[in-house]
Amino acid sequence: MIIKVDGSISHDTLKEMIARLEAENNVKVKLIVGEEYSILGLVGDISTIDIKHIQSLDYVLDVQRVQEPYKRASRKFHPEDTIVKVGDVEIGGNNLVMMAGPCSVENEEQIMTAARIVKKYGATMLRGGVVKPRTSPYAFQGLGMEGIELMKKAKEETGLPIICEVMSIAQLHEFGPHVDMIQLGARNMQNFDLLKAVGKTNIPVLLKRGLSATIEEWLMSAEYILAGGNENVVLCERGIRTYETAYRNVLDLNAVPMIKKLTHLPIIVDSAHSTGKYWMVEPLGMAGVAAGADGLMVEVHPEPDKALSDGPQSLKEDVFKHLMENVEKIANVLGKSFKSK
Ligand code: PEP
Ligand code: MN
Repeated sequence: MIIKVDGSISHDTLKEMIARLEAENNVKVKLIVGEEYSILGLVGDISTIDIKHIQSLDYVLDVQRVQEPYKRASRKFHPEDTIVKVGDVEIGGNNLVMMAGPCSVENEEQIMTAARIVKKYGATMLRGGVVKPRTSPYAFQGLGMEGIELMKKAKEETGLPIICEVMSIAQLHEFGPHVDMIQLGARNMQNFDLLKAVGKTNIPVLLKRGLSATIEEWLMSAEYILAGGNENVVLCERGIRTYETAYRNVLDLNAVPMIKKLTHLPIIVDSAHSTGKYWMVEPLGMAGVAAGADGLMVEVHPEPDKALSDGPQSLKEDVFKHLMENVEKIANVLGKSFKSK
């Protein structure tokens, strides 16, 4: 980090500032004194430094970071791709993972039918929400623990590892021991207490990007989990808010190569929530895989017209089958390991 300070600052103030920076953080400060301004070069771990505070000091002219604020998530500190294991499924590396299932678990027949469909065409994980972050308090909120029991039943029959969202620390402890992976949804990407609690476990976690989160904010949220000691973090690009209203969100495909460059963590593309339209899920899913994603998350429902949440973006059996066949073609081109059935 480089801090540019006004040349008129007294020598004592400068000395005091340097002493404080070194005492409060694990850094060494190199000083270059000039007429108009002086430069402080900070070497070491700057992750604990409050940049905003330094910027607000009267005599500070400019602060430039030469290192990302996330360290554990950064590829600079961990050049190899991380592979996250979820049961027997490996996410990252040369694998392509397909997470599919209904938006919400609604009843036994619905989840069992959906699970059989996704298994039949080669999905590697079963998704299903049992608590739902709905905009309206009057909309279906999910089955809670009853839904977890149904997901376990679907896992028993199909052998697919299961992923369910948690929205609170209480739900993390209640559902965590029963699922193979937890999902932190877009709306909880910056629920810092929840991130810290997830960091203290070793449950694999899918961290979705917040609706308006920058790449850096997203990686800082991953850093919270990694800093707590949980290294099983997978990122999920699920579309961001822009001025466009023609579709639900805008799938930020730029994020895929950017994330691959900045971090060693795997990234999944959710082409369902990012489009909100079932007929857009396949082309954007294929684009996500082509851009280098480690897998996809999509929503599948036996009868989308009757779905209690996200019906318009849910795939019927034949649409899912088509998607899986086309994903396999892209996987073959890329030399990734994936087979639809
Ligand atoms: C979901 O996966 O059903 C969901 C609510 O996703 P998001 O948090 O991305 O909106
Ligand atoms: Mn959904």
